[in-house]
Amino acid sequence: MKLYWIVSEVAPFAKTGGLADVAGALPKALAALGHEVRVAMPLYQSVVRARFDIRPTDLRLAISVGARVRDVRIWEGALPAPTNGGAGRQVVVYFVECAPLFDRGELYHATGRDYPDNLERFSVFAQAALGLLPALSWQPEVLHCHDWQSALACAHLAMGAVGSQPFFAPLATVLTIHNLAYQGLFPQAQWPLTGLPEAAFTMNGLEFYGQVNCLKGGLVSADGLTTVSPTYSREIQTSAFGCGLEGVLRARAEDLTGIVNGIDPSEWNPRTDPHLAARFGPGQLAGKAVCKLELQQRSGLAEHNGLLIGMIQRLTEQKGLDLFLEGAPRLLALPLQIVILGTGEPRYHEQLQQLAEQFPGRLAVHLTFDEALAHQIEAGADAFLMPSRFEPCGLNQLYSLRYGTVPIVRRIGGLSDTVVDVTPASSAARTATGFVFEDYAAGAMAGAVKRAVAAFRDHTLWSSLMAAGMQQDVSWSRSAREYVTVYERAIAKRQMNKATTTK
Ligand code: ADP
Repeated sequence: MKLYWIVSEVAPFAKTGGLADVAGALPKALAALGHEVRVAMPLYQSVVRARFDIRPTDLRLAISVGARVRDVRIWEGALPAPTNGGAGRQVVVYFVECAPLFDRGELYHATGRDYPDNLERFSVFAQAALGLLPALSWQPEVLHCHDWQSALACAHLAMGAVGSQPFFAPLATVLTIHNLAYQGLFPQAQWPLTGLPEAAFTMNGLEFYGQVNCLKGGLVSADGLTTVSPTYSREIQTSAFGCGLEGVLRARAEDLTGIVNGIDPSEWNPRTDPHLAARFGPGQLAGKAVCKLELQQRSGLAEHNGLLIGMIQRLTEQKGLDLFLEGAPRLLALPLQIVILGTGEPRYHEQLQQLAEQFPGRLAVHLTFDEALAHQIEAGADAFLMPSRFEPCGLNQLYSLRYGTVPIVRRIGGLSDTVVDVTPASSAARTATGFVFEDYAAGAMAGAVKRAVAAFRDHTLWSSLMAAGMQQDVSWSRSAREYVTVYERAIAKRQMNKATTTK
């Protein structure tokens, strides 16, 4: 199958969260299954061209947005091959260069505020990513878009002028929702920037209570929809989690599939991880103790052999920061230490810093984005806390499982699909991998952490939790096959639609 991804961030080129990890890993897993995958992303300032051998091509496009024409140049590179020399074709990556729009310090916002021209930025990106296909004479069978930033490409195929070009007619479309909370909402006055006809600004199109909703444009028009865990696929059809789009999603329930994310085993492998002071793996855990000591030293924590809890996250309400801040004094009354890595809302930066000052040597806070430190925390911590308010899939609990770091999570979204709570039954069956709590309440979170502290003292129980986690298959191979099924269904649907419209 020939697959084309349009996505706004791809690891290792540019990353703000889990989307980049998925876009850096799943295409390689699909390529390993024998498919040809090519990816398009913007050429941001942070993409280090020389390091990844990204070169300019002769391909230039002129994209009309509103009254303006933006000149775009396409660069070309490839996803780095797996370090273990794994199988699979190379994944070609096209970078859309438009310096006035993408040559900026951040991907989506500066100092906590979205760039005011984000609609123009991602409209140009989506249109250029589509426009380069006929220019290359490369005809994929499936276009796979991700979140609001590329959902416009699906809308253009279904409702825009490109959709009527014969070149694009056979192209089936799939949209993955990585996080429904970000929809790309813009005032109606900006509509011309979408490049779509007026007729698409309706309730059945991109209109959402008088505003332009880019994600909705993809939700109503893609042949197939996926999201990143089965539980989240059900949650988003309810008013509690649907962010106003639950009705649209319910109407498309038959086309919506939840597929749990995997991890890139070449990036996240404690046996080979270059960021670690010592390597380790199942049955060879001495290196993990070295990583713990190193993490304590680097973070200014006392040397202590109680439970060390790690947290790595965007500092937003979604991740349960309010719950954590409310419950932290209760947690820190227990014999444990906490290390946090994150960036995000300024109010959380301040509150975490104050908390760290209250608990020197017990709570360490790193308010930065640091890929190496993320690996060191996954390796050095004993447990990993994710008290999320909602969590489409979550990747850190998967990294934790692989690194023998026992997850403590709320039963929500992908967390409930990937962590098995310690109960008498799951302990007996040796299937337990972590601690799960139900309510979004500081007491419930503290209860799960208390259970973890008690279990940590029971060497046999803790070892069996680590072993069960490390044995889980959290790689992409199974999920990649599920995506192939979604692609096949989207192709069949597109062919059926074509047949009915040409009758
Ligand atoms: P989300 O996509 O909602 O942010 P995920 O758990 O799916 O959450 O993925 C987050 C990814 O971003 C993980 O790879 C995590 O390690 C990484 N990450 C988040 N914050 C930081 C940070 N401050 N430094 C390094 N990596 C981070």
